[in-house]
Amino acid sequence: AKAEGKDTFRYFEASMGAETRDRRAMEHDLRQAVARGEFRLVYQPQKEISSGKMIGFEALIRWHHPERGNIPPSVFIPVAEDSGAIAQIGEWVLATACEEAARWKNPLTIAVNVSAVQLHNPNFSCKVHEILLRTGLAPGRLELEVTETALIKDMPRALATLRQVKALGVRVAMDDFGTGYSSLSNLRAFPFDKIKIDGSFIKSVDTNGQVAAIVRAVLGLGRGLGLPVLAEGVETLDELRFLDAEDCEIGQGYYLGRPGPIETFSELTGVLALA
Ligand code: C2E
Ligand code: CA
Ligand code: CA
Ligand code: CA
Repeated sequence: AKAEGKDTFRYFEASMGAETRDRRAMEHDLRQAVARGEFRLVYQPQKEISSGKMIGFEALIRWHHPERGNIPPSVFIPVAEDSGAIAQIGEWVLATACEEAARWKNPLTIAVNVSAVQLHNPNFSCKVHEILLRTGLAPGRLELEVTETALIKDMPRALATLRQVKALGVRVAMDDFGTGYSSLSNLRAFPFDKIKIDGSFIKSVDTNGQVAAIVRAVLGLGRGLGLPVLAEGVETLDELRFLDAEDCEIGQGYYLGRPGPIETFSELTGVLALA
């Protein structure tokens, strides 16, 4: 359903045998993809809604397979998580995003998605620390995006990891809020700094009264807890107007800016500023 769907090769075929074979092939290819330089990152702006000011970017991974073309993260991230390849891929994402952000002209926030496997690795916070020291990125500029489903496998372990990265000065956002099982208790139990409302709610916020009521309630929750709320998947002016009228702090989505290679953002590279 994502934008790059058109030229996506289908690994998965109808028969069981082919499916297993394709999955193994993908697992195999994923293990070599970092070393072969097949991944890159694109960046999507996050903007303050009241002013339209750019405040940060989310890094999103892209995989260009040499024979199969572009494969979307919704397809290969779950396979990488099951096979364990996500550890290496996740580290590449974190290191690359921090390296690039450290070179930006403006000290904006860089948000990086973290998978369950990374969160449950006891060495994760050491890795984050090492990458921050190596790249020179100020810890306060890094925000880790964590979904609720990433927390549930081993909650005490996930909590320990989040506390460790927060002690480094790194911030943590709850991703896809509203799609998990127990969003409210997780908000209380884990030290989040931001709530990202899932794009599925934003899609009909301007046309569906029930959805609007839910989004208003989440915004009230954020205010009560002192947490800024970011609305994901803002695609139209009407959605943006609703969010602005309800004092939603931050927006992200195609209407505010599509994900793109870093060179397309002159705010960061300074190319236009110099010209
Ligand atoms: P996510 O973290 O919820 O990321 C937002 C997704 O929504 C991205 O899809 C983005 O391109 C898309 N999007 C942004 N604005 C809009 C909009 O206005 N409308 C619609 N319909 N979609 C919008 P993408 O890049 O295909 O990533 C899909 C998912 O894959 C991400 O969802 C995240 O869960 C995962 N992912 C992406 N990059 C990484 C990564 O580096 N590491 C890990 N662990 N997961 C990643
Ligand atoms: Ca995310
Ligand atoms: Ca999300
Ligand atoms: Ca709409």
